[in-house]
Amino acid sequence: MVLLKTPAEIELLREAALIVSKTLGMLASEIKPGVSTLYLDKLAEEFIRDHGAEPGFLGMYDFPNSLCMSPNAQVVHGIPNDKPLENGDIISVDCGSYINGYYGDHAYTFEVGEVAPEVKDLLRITKESLYEGIRAFKKGNRIGDIGHAIQHYTEQYGYGVVRELVGHGVGKDMHEDPQVPNYGKPGRGKKIKEGMVLAIEPMINMGTKNIIQMPDGWTILTQDGKPSAHFEHDVALVDGKPQLLSTFDYIYEALGIQSDEEDEFRKKE
Ligand code: MG
Ligand code: MG
Repeated sequence: MVLLKTPAEIELLREAALIVSKTLGMLASEIKPGVSTLYLDKLAEEFIRDHGAEPGFLGMYDFPNSLCMSPNAQVVHGIPNDKPLENGDIISVDCGSYINGYYGDHAYTFEVGEVAPEVKDLLRITKESLYEGIRAFKKGNRIGDIGHAIQHYTEQYGYGVVRELVGHGVGKDMHEDPQVPNYGKPGRGKKIKEGMVLAIEPMINMGTKNIIQMPDGWTILTQDGKPSAHFEHDVALVDGKPQLLSTFDYIYEALGIQSDEEDEFRKKE
């Protein structure tokens, strides 16, 4: 059942989402060659708690850490470890928060040092596909329109759209209805309604869409060992249009990047 949120609940979800946004912004300055994902995980946990929230992922379905850290060919759900990041790596960082009874859940794939041009393209196009999906999250559309937009945008570059893992509603539970696949047919699925809050999260592979799970029971890898990217925003349907609850602003501020990509989805003051 899809739980529609009141304006007051949407503000609580925004607060939860912004804690994740700020955590990712803090991590942006710390991610560099030589740093371990476990060290970054500890920083994030401390940062989240310092902001009066709890890590959303820690202990959920028995996950052992606060961040999912998925380098290179890992798609999602990577477990932080003490192996140092290397120049040229990419690292997908997925982070959850829990505060005032609501969850935030959002993700960014970072470059570590100097990354190959074709990998930079994968990151850019995956992030662009996230906004294509968000643009399709509007009154009159259905959930299938979101996935269709993401799939259509990324497959033209020969990329693989992961099928087994999907976006979702977010609220008092981290994972609520509806499921939001990153592929689909236009006009299919549940109707998009005022007060829906979704975590939209394309997981896009440079090569095959096929994935495998590592023996740890968590880590998802591309079958062909090629890199994979993951970007995720929390988005509410307000006045029939998508409004971002999370933001990459803190990341861009830390990295000195100018971007207007979120402007069309910002809350009108
Ligand atoms: Mg996530
Ligand atoms: Mg999610």
